[in-house]
Amino acid sequence: MERQLDVLIIGSGPAGLSAAVYAKRAGLSALVLEREYRGTGQIAESDQVDNYLGLPKMNGYDLGEAFLNHAQELEIRFQEGTAYDYEKTEDGWSVHVEDGQTIHAKTVIYCAGAAHRRLGVDGEEEFVGKGVSYCAVCDGAFYKGKDTAVIGGGDTALGDALYLADLCDKVYLIHRRDRFRGAASTVRQLQEKENVEILTEAVPAKIVGEQTVTALELKDGRSIPVHGAFVAVGMQPQTEPLKGVVDLDDAGYIIADETGITSAPGFFAAGDVRTKALRQVVTAVSDGANAAVSALEYIQRQQD
Ligand SMILES: Cc1cc2nc3c(=O)[nH]c(=O)nc-3n(C[C@H](O)[C@H](O)[C@H](O)COP(=O)(O)OP(=O)(O)OC[C@H]3O[C@@H](n4cnc5c(N)ncnc54)[C@H](O)[C@@H]3O)c2cc1C
Repeated sequence: MERQLDVLIIGSGPAGLSAAVYAKRAGLSALVLEREYRGTGQIAESDQVDNYLGLPKMNGYDLGEAFLNHAQELEIRFQEGTAYDYEKTEDGWSVHVEDGQTIHAKTVIYCAGAAHRRLGVDGEEEFVGKGVSYCAVCDGAFYKGKDTAVIGGGDTALGDALYLADLCDKVYLIHRRDRFRGAASTVRQLQEKENVEILTEAVPAKIVGEQTVTALELKDGRSIPVHGAFVAVGMQPQTEPLKGVVDLDDAGYIIADETGITSAPGFFAAGDVRTKALRQVVTAVSDGANAAVSALEYIQRQQD
């Protein structure tokens, strides 16, 4: 039987890869489990990352590849698969993978990140990739010269509308409340754009189309003719399988500070999945390093 791993890292986004580098360099036996082939997390969706220290104007996909290559150069073990269940055992954790395998490890560093929240209206799932998008920077270019709608009221929605305004013929910014949560300065910039129409107190009811999206219907009966609907209504932490395993806050984030220590012994959290103020690459990378050190200290304490 294979020796029990010191640490199983879930997710190979910036947090997971950083945790892997620190764990390996600390002499721990580590395995990174990632559901996507060569996945590097959300950052791969970013057209340009301008705020990661030392690497300005870096394409997000290339930044993720650089992280992954670094980990691979250290001969860290990777496995493709989706973890879905976590069981505390006497000497660690048993993690069940969708392919039927069970992985045993003394500690788990959970770095599964976050995903875009769905709007939850009819037509949304049907038209994902056929007019419905969750990433303006990734898909905006497909809508050059066309009409689009951005749905949401935070900074992401405002930024998406601004980005699309430079590409699209017309952009509708649709928000269910009368005031935006995002920066007032961006709202002003949008108000000055001739091709941006801001609709407040407007609640989407349905996304309609044939092969692709043709319109967005609102609850008040209005129909907005668009080719693309960009949904920017927040992020959902990937913590569904952790209910009853570790303490989560009301929004579903794992309650943990920068040490990554959670309510469950030997189970650490790093990156966008944990409670924190700023969810960025730099904080995810920092979390991964801290969680690996916490895992090392935990294993050493168990051996004493
Ligand atoms: C469009 C976009 C632009 C961004 N731009 C910037 C920017 O300019 N600067 C910046 O600093 N940040 C930016 N961010 C935010 C940044 O990408 C995130 O903060 C960072 O990626 C979080 O890293 P993470 O490792 O915590 O999680 P993630 O990047 O979300 O990685 C989580 C990984 O876990 C995997 N996973 C999830 N569940 C499982 C499971 N059950 N089993 C196995 N694997 C699983 C996922 O496939 C994924 O690869 C951007 C994000 C987006 C979406």
